[in-house]
Amino acid sequence: MSIIYLDHAATTPVLPEVTEAMLPYYKERYGNPSGIYQFAQHRKKEIENVRKILAESINAAPHEIYYTSGGTEADNWALKCSCFMGSTGKTHMITTKIEHHAVLNTCKELENRGTKVTYLNVDENGRISLKELEKAIDSGTVLVSVMFANNEVGTIEPIKEAGYLCKKHGVLFHTDAVQAYGHIPIDVEKMNIDMLSVSAHKFNGPKGIGFLYIREGIALPSYIHGGGQESGKRAGTENVAGIIGMGKAAEISQKRMEEDNRKLLHLREHLIHRFLREIPYCRINGDRKNRLPGNCNVSFQFIDGGSLLILLDTAGICASAGSACSSGEGASSHVLSAMGIPEEIARGTIRFSIGAQNTLEEIDEAADYVRENVKKLRETSAEYEDYQNKYV
Ligand code: PLP
Repeated sequence: MSIIYLDHAATTPVLPEVTEAMLPYYKERYGNPSGIYQFAQHRKKEIENVRKILAESINAAPHEIYYTSGGTEADNWALKCSCFMGSTGKTHMITTKIEHHAVLNTCKELENRGTKVTYLNVDENGRISLKELEKAIDSGTVLVSVMFANNEVGTIEPIKEAGYLCKKHGVLFHTDAVQAYGHIPIDVEKMNIDMLSVSAHKFNGPKGIGFLYIREGIALPSYIHGGGQESGKRAGTENVAGIIGMGKAAEISQKRMEEDNRKLLHLREHLIHRFLREIPYCRINGDRKNRLPGNCNVSFQFIDGGSLLILLDTAGICASAGSACSSGEGASSHVLSAMGIPEEIARGTIRFSIGAQNTLEEIDEAADYVRENVKKLRETSAEYEDYQNKYV
């Protein structure tokens, strides 16, 4: 069975050019970059070359890029080490209610250790209020962390403005750009960003590799201790093949960004319009304007998103539940809940995340299948029948 992959926010396929670039590093170019002989020093040069490519892509300097094992590690490093930096044990940080668990669960751990954390609200579209952010900053605030773009609903936050406020008040500003990097332009200078987390598998690179940008002058302590790699800040033998793959994927995504986004927007709007036109009682979640180009998060009332996902899976259509409830965690999505979406609507939520490799035919096939199966599920829904009897 062929699959229709509409879950690019979860992970993306590794591009053939990327695999090809990586392969020699598993075969003949296996040298450890810390070695002193040429066979190792060439690897060192090659990973430094990637550092330049990554730095350029966000308008940073190469020595401000630190390789990590991905987004989760980069987030943990930025948050934990900012809060421990020169810590008296009494620190305050600010984040949002809609962050990825890589940030939220790190905050929980920080709270257990005495850090006070303020969680900013979001509006019905998932955007923070800059006024609320500025009000929350106090003399004990060491860090503000606001995600660049949300992984569930695709909403893009006012990062440049949030960064400006942090700069004005002398507070560090971190953004989790895992969903944004490679998809929308990022300029750490213009956007007043001090630290930024990136993960390669979200932009057609390999899994298990990413980076943390740390602005020069920020004395962020090391998170992983050991050898002297990454200027002594992040120990461990470098994932050379992964770094090479990330560099290739970064190069390609920067080059194709405009063209890919035009295509993604077309496919996304086509899917959204088909849902809104053909399926009654459905709503699109997230900001319609400030939104990742490939994201379509949709709630179908009177159905359970998990049941629809299972039906989609039988047809080879891969998507995600918009609500943790449907994936068996028992609670509705913290993102939808923060946006004020009622539980009975949130439970019928699916996230379709489109990639540049998708075709219009695939989108149409998925839309047809969703329409038929939402109808089928509603036919067996007592709640739907009740609603029809009462109001229609
Ligand atoms: N932050 C966001 C917004 C994400 O979407 C993800 C992954 O889904 C992560 C962090 C974690 O990144 P990684 O999978 O590289 O650990």
